[in-house]
Amino acid sequence: MENNINAHCKICGKGYHVCASCLAQKGFQPWRAVTDTMNHYKIYMSIHGYTLSHDSKKAKTALENCDLSGLENFRPEIKSAIQTIMTEH
Ligand SMILES: [Zn+2]
Repeated sequence: MENNINAHCKICGKGYHVCASCLAQKGFQPWRAVTDTMNHYKIYMSIHGYTLSHDSKKAKTALENCDLSGLENFRPEIKSAIQTIMTEH
């Protein structure tokens, strides 16, 4: 299971395996291409939304619905983005 790591989570940087043929399949859960867990994908989308809209209020609400446990181990740029969102307003 730990072999064939070919992707790293955009949130926590953890390596995981994504099967290329799975990725090509329709109905494949798209979050697997970006993060290792569904929850990290939710965090990713919240931050992504913020980079596009700069709507920190909306991003904060979205982040509050995510499990932010393990925040200390997130990638530095993700950590600072979350801190920015959480401290604005
Ligand atoms: Zn992750």
